[in-house]
Amino acid sequence: MTQANAGAQPKIGLVSLGCPKALVDSERILTTLRAQGYAFSRDYEGADIVLVNTCGFLDSAKQESLDAIGEAVAENGKVIVTGCLGVEEGLIRKTHPSVLAVTGPHQYEAVVNAVNAHLPPVPNAFIDLVPPEGLHLTPHHYAYLKISEGCNNRCSFCIIPQIRGDLVSRPVASVLYEAERLIAGGVKEIMVISQDTSAYGVDVKYATSKYRGRDVRAKFHDLVEEMARLDVWTRLHYVYPYPHVDSVIPLMAEGKILPYLDIPFQHASPSVLKAMRRPANQEKTLDRIRKWRDICPDLTIRSNFIVGFPGETEEDFDLLLDWIEEAEIDRAGVFKFEPVTGAPANALEGVVPDEVKNERFATLMEVAQNVSTGQLAKKVGRTIEVLVDDVRPAEGRAIARSKWDAPDIDGQVIVDHAEGIKPGDKVTVVVIGSDEYDLFAVPIGATADLDRATASA
Ligand code: SF4
Repeated sequence: MTQANAGAQPKIGLVSLGCPKALVDSERILTTLRAQGYAFSRDYEGADIVLVNTCGFLDSAKQESLDAIGEAVAENGKVIVTGCLGVEEGLIRKTHPSVLAVTGPHQYEAVVNAVNAHLPPVPNAFIDLVPPEGLHLTPHHYAYLKISEGCNNRCSFCIIPQIRGDLVSRPVASVLYEAERLIAGGVKEIMVISQDTSAYGVDVKYATSKYRGRDVRAKFHDLVEEMARLDVWTRLHYVYPYPHVDSVIPLMAEGKILPYLDIPFQHASPSVLKAMRRPANQEKTLDRIRKWRDICPDLTIRSNFIVGFPGETEEDFDLLLDWIEEAEIDRAGVFKFEPVTGAPANALEGVVPDEVKNERFATLMEVAQNVSTGQLAKKVGRTIEVLVDDVRPAEGRAIARSKWDAPDIDGQVIVDHAEGIKPGDKVTVVVIGSDEYDLFAVPIGATADLDRATASA
């Protein structure tokens, strides 16, 4: 067991068995727990919970691990098992049914998460090296929440799977506890991100983890449903239009998560999508988007498109333009195809000359801008809630965003008569104008003043 530590911090006892690799795993787990504010106990009596890092290499090592678990259960009672024997959860639970949680080798996040679930850390502003919500490079009031690493897709223009590997999903409880810490730290908007958010949990077969005493599946819908219970704006990025995405649209219609989907469609022509190695049934996708909008008329769709992909013909490009108009893609990012070293698309025939790429880029930007202008004009006259990013007191102006605007990539809501408003405030405003990308608004109380000023002018 590790050194004792006085104070009110929850204390962990550790029994570390096995080889040097297991010892390094133990060190890594303890380092993370220490950073979260846990203290450690050398003996069973002083520990609030005991971690047993097991070995399962030989039968004798298995037995030693089972004995160690038994001793910890007898001496302390609150035991979490991790390490190599963790792959034999059935054996452990059969021998010692009272263990609180079992995680396998190298599952650092899962074991820390299990400790958090059964013995929550107590934040202490005087001794913690980092605030409970972690260190963030974003403003105080919004944050990104990464739910997985890597990607199982193999888009021909992309080398991310080569660099970051296949999909590795975080345990859902770990994601949700992180969201809670962010909210407790003052975050009002969370952007859920990954390479492919809708594929969340596929790699772990939707494994459950304990969150607030409940078993929650690492599955797109379940994660979103849990986020919907939290008091925060939840915005979904990098979602693919798979059928199971349908299930979160009602949550958007009910106002439980933001009516916003960032879906990187990249193109609409079946032949270009095939060459990109992406799902190619854009007609079905169009139907799906229409159904989504029937359920949630406020839904904003943001997307990225690539022009000048090898083999893209004029017909392909025209089809893309029509599709963006029909789908009413509210926000579009447009990129000219560029070969990326190592990407399979570099070997494709039908390279599109630069001047054609430039023309298509300009045309698509214009079409996307027209669609955006039309979509934003529909919002004039509405009363909406905005989140303030910045203020310009000298101009009496606040720069804010609505539920339809993600930070950095979308437009803004320019709020005049914004005296007394601070960054991070949520303010109810009336939309009084729009242009290609932005909305213009005044706080709800200011409309009467404006009416009076207009009447007397
Ligand atoms: S473009 Fe996105 S979905 Fe496709 S392989 Fe790259 S990371 Fe995965």
